[in-house]
Amino acid sequence: MTGALNPVMSLKVVIAGAGHAAGQVVASLKQKKFSGEIVLIGDAPYLPYQRPPLSKKFLAGELSAERLFFKPPVFYEDPSIEVMLDTRIDSIERENKSVSTSQNRSISYDRLVIATGARVRRLQVPGAELAGIHYLRTINDVNRLRAEFEDGNRFVVVGAGYIGLEVAAVCRQLGLEVTVIEMAERVMSRVVSPQISAFYQQEHARHGVSLRLATGITGFVGEDRVRGVVTSANDTIEADFVLVGVGIEPVTDLADEAGLQVDNGVVVDDRCLTGDADIYAVGDCTSHPNSIYGRRVRLESVHNALEQAKTAASNICGEEQHYSQVPWFWSDQYDLKLQIAGLSQGFDDTVIRGDPAQRSFACCYLRDNLLIALDAVNSPRDFMQAKNLVAERKPVDRSRLADPAVALKDLV
Ligand code: FAD
Repeated sequence: MTGALNPVMSLKVVIAGAGHAAGQVVASLKQKKFSGEIVLIGDAPYLPYQRPPLSKKFLAGELSAERLFFKPPVFYEDPSIEVMLDTRIDSIERENKSVSTSQNRSISYDRLVIATGARVRRLQVPGAELAGIHYLRTINDVNRLRAEFEDGNRFVVVGAGYIGLEVAAVCRQLGLEVTVIEMAERVMSRVVSPQISAFYQQEHARHGVSLRLATGITGFVGEDRVRGVVTSANDTIEADFVLVGVGIEPVTDLADEAGLQVDNGVVVDDRCLTGDADIYAVGDCTSHPNSIYGRRVRLESVHNALEQAKTAASNICGEEQHYSQVPWFWSDQYDLKLQIAGLSQGFDDTVIRGDPAQRSFACCYLRDNLLIALDAVNSPRDFMQAKNLVAERKPVDRSRLADPAVALKDLV
């Protein structure tokens, strides 16, 4: 049964959150000719927009704010779509299938999609509330950060993950003096191999970023504004402003308080369904099964947000769709595009394809001779082909894998 004949196509769908995943749920429902009511409720003042450029081209001033938006405002002028911005959902009342908002409204649903994303992890150290200490998750965060950009300003980044390093690269290119402080012994240690870390450390050093590895933060000093960052080595690095990029945590409060299962994310199955048959969850806020790796994962990625959103929309429309894909991510630093296919955690061997000195190479992660992930630096073809190879789960020949003249697609 399809279209108007199918009763599920005229249900009322409420979406909690108006970020990337939420925007895709609306787009997918409309694409499928869903004719019911869609209510999009977000606590931010903006329509759904893309966050990746916030630490890249938008921060650099190379992309206008209008280009961030997922769909133009006119898309939401559809009479079947109600958009409520600057509105927080305070609770879900599962017994009468409704949500309560910060505007004191109770809104009923037939199906609810939780797309509440993630929030930044905040540092809890003395001085952490001083002005001039920034976090990065929203357009407004970027606007506040950009207001600090002045020639010669000393900028300290706490945390050498993707976001910290992307911002460091942009700021260095804008002529700021940049120091990056990282607690681990190498950059991006949570997600990439020592070889990739070493390559990026060299690149940042070559661009004039001062890297302080294996160094923690014990506090910030300053009167009203931050003037310095105190490190675990007990020295103070002078700073005119600071960005803290020490990770995110999933926003699961609503689900938790409504009695849904939460375990490092809102627990969903491969249909993006929670333990309540009327409530789905999608995007950064979820913990979901991945059949390729045979375990639950929580991902912080646009690809996952979009694909889970499409899966949830399909299932809402009565199609039986199961989500299992090779996760992928990317990071832009200077003229380097890092593309990551798969999850490398648990690897027992690595193979480098190509020559890092050529600034185009890949690091392959193996486990029991299976390719489980690949990091491609300026090597888009390897990245594309690795996605298939990881999904196929077939043993690969190590010496052929190391030979960049052999296309990955020809390996099995
Ligand atoms: P979000 O985009 O976080 O949206 C959730 C929304 O829900 C938020 O607007 C939040 O305010 C709202 N909300 C929360 N609780 C409530 C409530 N109770 N009521 C109403 N609204 C609520 N990913 C990549 O794959 N590649 C990249 O290069 C990349 N770069 C990034 C750079 C930056 C600076 C950031 C911040 C993220 C980056 N990401 C990147 C991650 C990517 O943006 C996220 O994975 C994606 O935004 C997840 O989408 P989401 O809809 O799940 O969550």
